[in-house]
Amino acid sequence: MDIDTTHPVLVTGATGYVAGWILKGLLDAGATVHATVRDPGATSRLRHLVDMADAGPGTLRFFRADLLEEGSYAEPMAGCRVVLHTASPFKNDVKDPQKELVDPAVLGTRTVLETADATASVTRVVLTSSVVAIYGDVADIAQAPGGRLTEEVWNTTSSLDHQPYSYSKTVAEREAWSIADAQDRWRLVAVNPSLVIGPAAGPQPTSDSFAIVKSLGDGTMRMGAPRLGMGVVDVRDVAQAHLAAAFLPDASGRNIVSGHETTILELGQTLRERFGDRLPLPNRAIPKGLLWLVAPAVGQTRRFVSRNVGFPWRADTSKSRRELGLTYRPMKVTIEDMVEQMLEAGAFAKA
Ligand code: NAP
Repeated sequence: MDIDTTHPVLVTGATGYVAGWILKGLLDAGATVHATVRDPGATSRLRHLVDMADAGPGTLRFFRADLLEEGSYAEPMAGCRVVLHTASPFKNDVKDPQKELVDPAVLGTRTVLETADATASVTRVVLTSSVVAIYGDVADIAQAPGGRLTEEVWNTTSSLDHQPYSYSKTVAEREAWSIADAQDRWRLVAVNPSLVIGPAAGPQPTSDSFAIVKSLGDGTMRMGAPRLGMGVVDVRDVAQAHLAAAFLPDASGRNIVSGHETTILELGQTLRERFGDRLPLPNRAIPKGLLWLVAPAVGQTRRFVSRNVGFPWRADTSKSRRELGLTYRPMKVTIEDMVEQMLEAGAFAKA
């Protein structure tokens, strides 16, 4: 795949976990990257990106932009052909889901895509969506054609009250398609990753991926883990999917990007061989009935437990292999690389 280095490439949310590896791919290929961040003064959060640019042939320019500020993407987008819109909050511990998740996801997508409409040089926009824009609860997957998620399926069961992060990604992606379908100058390509894991490109990761993996090794799941079905994918493969979505001429539509079908329990068990003597990893399943009983006491809802624990997670990932040319790293390599890095950073200490 040829990365176009003749025009600058815009990446929104450059401090992010996923964005870090996208930037590395672009800079290593010699591209000029326009990187938007909320706080260009937070130099410790940008240092790894500056180092990447210094080490490779590419050029990096930072711009201040906020998803909630209309017009703030116009200057960084000027002259770009390709826009990679990754910025969107990924966190599950929120008090006001409308304000903390849905507003930045939807208003941000609208602002970035309307700016693309107004920027004559743009021909391709890649949206970092999610598989959670495809399904809400794991129990929903049984209703998908053949019992497997495909790019045709949409999440119809999440709301502000139930799985609000999933809801934010669903309404944001719907908004993106409605803006893209109203014009024909630029093409929208959506990347829909499952749970992203693997090492961070920089220090201080804020993505909820780290909170989820931390809970496997900090003693939270010492007594066991749920058979919570999920897909997982390596962050470096997700970055590659974005580059393919941006630069392959025929990339189109939605693209499920997921390497493995697993459960949170199996993910924890995968770590036992290498880290069993250093971390209090889960080694047995917590019965669903027990989880259901204790759910409110551990900050979960009974509806979440009923609709997600004990169901298989299945998705058809053939489009990503066929059209984006992806091959996926083994799950064991990915999770071991991530946990090794987290151990070195002291990330498993209980708060
Ligand atoms: P992350 O590291 O927390 O990155 C989120 C990024 O969004 C940060 O750069 C953050 O910037 C930016 N952001 C948040 N609110 C913003 C606002 N109001 N204005 C401007 N920027 C804002 O999380 P991530 O895991 O890399 O997620 C990146 C994308 O991947 C998101 O769209 C997420 O939904 C999607 N995704 C993630 C996963 C996963 O498992 N991690 C799976 C599927 C899809 P600041 O540094 O300024 O906070």
